[in-house]
Formats: sequence, structure tokens, C-alpha cells
Amino acid sequence: MPRVFFALWPDADAASRLHTIARCWHEVLGGRVMREDSLHATLAFVGDVAPQRLPDLRAVAAGIRLPGMPLAFDRGGCWRHNQIAYLGLRETPDALRCLWSALAAGLRAADFSIETRPFSPHITLLRKANCLAFDAATEKENPATEPVVWSVRDFVLVMSSISANGSRYEQIGAWPLL
Ligand code: ATP
Ligand code: MG
Repeated sequence: MPRVFFALWPDADAASRLHTIARCWHEVLGGRVMREDSLHATLAFVGDVAPQRLPDLRAVAAGIRLPGMPLAFDRGGCWRHNQIAYLGLRETPDALRCLWSALAAGLRAADFSIETRPFSPHITLLRKANCLAFDAATEKENPATEPVVWSVRDFVLVMSSISANGSRYEQIGAWPLL
């Protein structure tokens, strides 16, 4: 069964800047640097779906008519419980929260079960990171000096499959924001 999720995908320039930050953090935090072409912010993790349900999933996405927005990833952090070092947002714009809640509501209405945790937009930069080193290096402050900004113009559906060196992602759909 395909394992899928909806996400925001940085443009090439933003991905390159994110990857530069990831390599810099890696020097201090160790762990595993996410591939440049896999960097993303998850909007809704759907998980395993039967292939015949994919059209329903696409219909939910196609029903969303919302504006795009600029996003500024300007807040570094490291979660100890899962050893993920990430870049998040100091402020979540209303337009992003609106997109997230519209997608979640559409998915639930179409009988897809998605998580009920609060929205925590972020881009994972490192896995198995040493978060103690992060705190020591940054005094828990934001280590990223310049925000990574990109103009979000669409959202994508991604299929995730396991490979020898971590998960591999393939975009299987994209829907424009207005
Ligand atoms: P791996 O699981 O192999 O370490 P991964 O977490 O990048 O790799 P997936 O597990 O397929 O790959 O997850 C895809 C995306 O969805 C990631 O951004 C992940 O953080 C997020 N995700 C995974 N599981 C959940 C979940 N239960 N709830 C919310 N988001 C999730
Ligand atoms: Mg995972």
C-alpha cells in the first residue's frame, strides 16, 4: 500500500540554503543530514492508503481554493524525544494555518484518519542529532542567522518508500494555491 503525505516543497534555491544550514549544524550536532532533494514541511501525514483510494485523496486536494503565502523559516530547534533538528517558523501565518486546517478537515470528511496533534510546521534538517549539543551551541537560541524564505505557490502529495539509505520521496501530485 502506498504511504503518502501532503507537504510543502521548497523551491531549488530555498532547498539549497536549507541544505547549507543542515551541513553547518551537522558539524556540531552530528547525526544524518537530510538529502537536499528530500527537504519538505509536512502538512498532513496520511500514511498507508489503498491504491484505489488515491483518487479520493486527490479530490480532497483539488477542492482546496486558498491563497499562497511567503514563509520565513527562521526558528531553529532540536527535539530531544526524536533527535530531530529542524527549522520552523517563529510565526505561523494565518494562510498556512488555514491551508492545514482545510486539508485536515477535507481528509477527515473523506474518511482518512490523520493525526490530531497540533500543527507544528517545520523542516527536518538532521536526524539522530545531538540536541544537547544544539542547546550548548546556541544557548537554546536560534542558530540560523538569516531566515530561509520562499513563496509557497502550491502543495504536493508525496509517496514515501523505504530504501537502504532512509525513506525516498516521490511527488505524485501538486495543486496550486491562488
Ligand atoms: P523514516 O520514517 O524512514 O525515518 P521519514 O519520517 O522522513 O523517514 P515517513 O515516515 O514516510 O518518512 O514520513 C514522511 C513525512 O511525514 C515526514 O515529514 C515525517 O516527519 C512525517 N510523518 C511521519 N509519520 C507521521 C505521523 N504519524 N504524524 C505526522 N507526521 C508524520
Ligand atoms: Mg518516519
